[in-house]
Amino acid sequence: MTVLVAPKVLSDHRVRDFKMLIDGKWEAGTSHSIERVAPSHGVLVSRYPAGTKADAERAIAAARKAFDNGAWPRMTASERANVLLKAADLIAARAEELAYLDAIEAGKPISQVRGEIAGSVDIWRYAASLARNLHGESYNTLGDGTLGVVLREAIGVVSIITPWNFPFLIVGQKLPFALAAGCTTVVKPSELTSGSTLVLGEILQEAGVPNGVVNIVTGTGAEVGAIMTSHPHVDMVSFTGSTGVGKLTMTNAAQTLKKVSLELGGKNPQIVFPDADLDAFIDAAVFGAYFNAGECCNAGSRLILHKDIASDVVRRVAELAKHVKVGDPLDPTTQVGAIITPQHLEKIGGYLAGARDSGARIAHGGETLDFGMGQFMAPTILEAVTPGMAVAREEVFGPVLSVLTFETTAEAIEIANSIDYGLSAGVWSRDFDTCLTIGRKVRAGTVWMNTFMDGTPELPFGGYKQSGLGRELGRHAVEDYTETKTLNMHVGGRTNWWMPQK
Ligand code: NAD
Repeated sequence: MTVLVAPKVLSDHRVRDFKMLIDGKWEAGTSHSIERVAPSHGVLVSRYPAGTKADAERAIAAARKAFDNGAWPRMTASERANVLLKAADLIAARAEELAYLDAIEAGKPISQVRGEIAGSVDIWRYAASLARNLHGESYNTLGDGTLGVVLREAIGVVSIITPWNFPFLIVGQKLPFALAAGCTTVVKPSELTSGSTLVLGEILQEAGVPNGVVNIVTGTGAEVGAIMTSHPHVDMVSFTGSTGVGKLTMTNAAQTLKKVSLELGGKNPQIVFPDADLDAFIDAAVFGAYFNAGECCNAGSRLILHKDIASDVVRRVAELAKHVKVGDPLDPTTQVGAIITPQHLEKIGGYLAGARDSGARIAHGGETLDFGMGQFMAPTILEAVTPGMAVAREEVFGPVLSVLTFETTAEAIEIANSIDYGLSAGVWSRDFDTCLTIGRKVRAGTVWMNTFMDGTPELPFGGYKQSGLGRELGRHAVEDYTETKTLNMHVGGRTNWWMPQK
């Protein structure tokens, strides 16, 4: 049983036609349009230009010109910070429009997206604060003859490539920091959810970002993304998406030795000990697994439960999962929205079939939900999962929770670390030693203790192992978009290397 919120037919619905932004001009594109059908309502909601390789090349040329000759990298940090602060205000002013676009294009619950837009406003403001704190170092300790100054310089042209699961939030984890450093950019949103990023383009123009500093090219990864990651005039690639495409990105970028920052997949464990506050954990388990329909890099998709509490926990998680509201993303009470595409729903179904064939049991859910429109799936729990199964190792990217068990702390750590991913993890215990042991031994970029999936711009975020390379957010986020330059200055007479022969 699942609490269903049937999507209402979109009565005053209009298809929104978008253009892409190249060198300050809005362009319809020369190729066909990409049509986005709402995953919740099954109707066409947006059209974006299918950008071509030539469009991407023009965008890169515009960003290059704006970096090499334009005002943005040369203005004061205070001026750039003011533009970012104005952008934050304008995002807040258009929050409802942005939330609607992400909800209808990605199938995400509107209440959740409102929170994401508010979170983005905070991140844009945080980036503005870092802009004015970016500085290098000086060394006056190298003797009378030497003064050393270490400069931080904007790295140059940055390609920013984003996925569909948090369309507005993720571009906000990259773009304001790149802009704060003085970089210029070419942005490619996912071809499934480009709307809110294109509205951001309008906002940035209004906030005073000069032409060519932010270019937004819509289109596919194969056409637009491939050139953005390989073009010699791009200095850095900041990519969020699947581990497979992340590897391709790194390979492409390696041909010209670009810097790459990669935020990739996860298969994140929540490790639970018998002394944990189970009331708090049960809610966090359901939240961790079903938030964003499990289409979340940070999803707590693996429960690693102490065997003494496993059956009780599974029963209680299943009981709470029954009360989660699934359906219309535009209904403010909905907690789990639609699955991004019919193909993705099929892929999730394939994982469930494979798990059952390998001996796992469905403790709850497992079925698709038919509202006569869109594609939805019930919150699902799989028990009797063993560490070797695909559902224990691979990113299902759907509302599917896999339950494994352990007996000793060492075994829990071994299971947690036994896969290729290392994005985040959670540990639940009232014992300080237990929490710290797990926190230090689990190889993941974030470890939550007695909570799950909390975040704030001050705390760095990113993955170990095949979950990524580099960190976003945190006080070094702007530095990531810089090069380091050493000025080694000689003072007074210099001792010659070449001495006249005697
Ligand atoms: P994806 O890898 O399919 O696509 C991501 C982006 O890359 C899209 O814009 C796509 O068009 C582009 N792309 C595709 N092929 C490309 C190519 N050859 N060259 C350059 N760009 C290309 O990922 P997705 O399905 O959009 O998103 C889901 C994935 O993103 C999941 O694996 C999820 O874990 C990951 N993700 C990670 C984080 C994180 O911060 N670690 C956050 C959100 C999502």
